[in-house]
Amino acid sequence: MSNRAFDHASKLEQDERESSWQAHHQMMEAQAATPSATRCAVCHDPIPQERREAYPGCQTCVHCQAELDDALNRHHY
Ligand SMILES: [Zn+2]
Repeated sequence: MSNRAFDHASKLEQDERESSWQAHHQMMEAQAATPSATRCAVCHDPIPQERREAYPGCQTCVHCQAELDDALNRHHY
């Protein structure tokens, strides 16, 4: 009687969780390291200084970000 196979499976699962968390964390860090754009990547409108400070690394204006969020939400649900 051995639980070895089970231990192995749950270890794999744990590794998977940890690496996806690390990928997420690295993505967040990369995003924080990116300087906020002065102009929207989508419509090229200037991005207000307030927004650039509130959302470090942002690349789009409020309007385009809202549309992107909308599109993402539609994709997920
Ligand atoms: Zn825009």
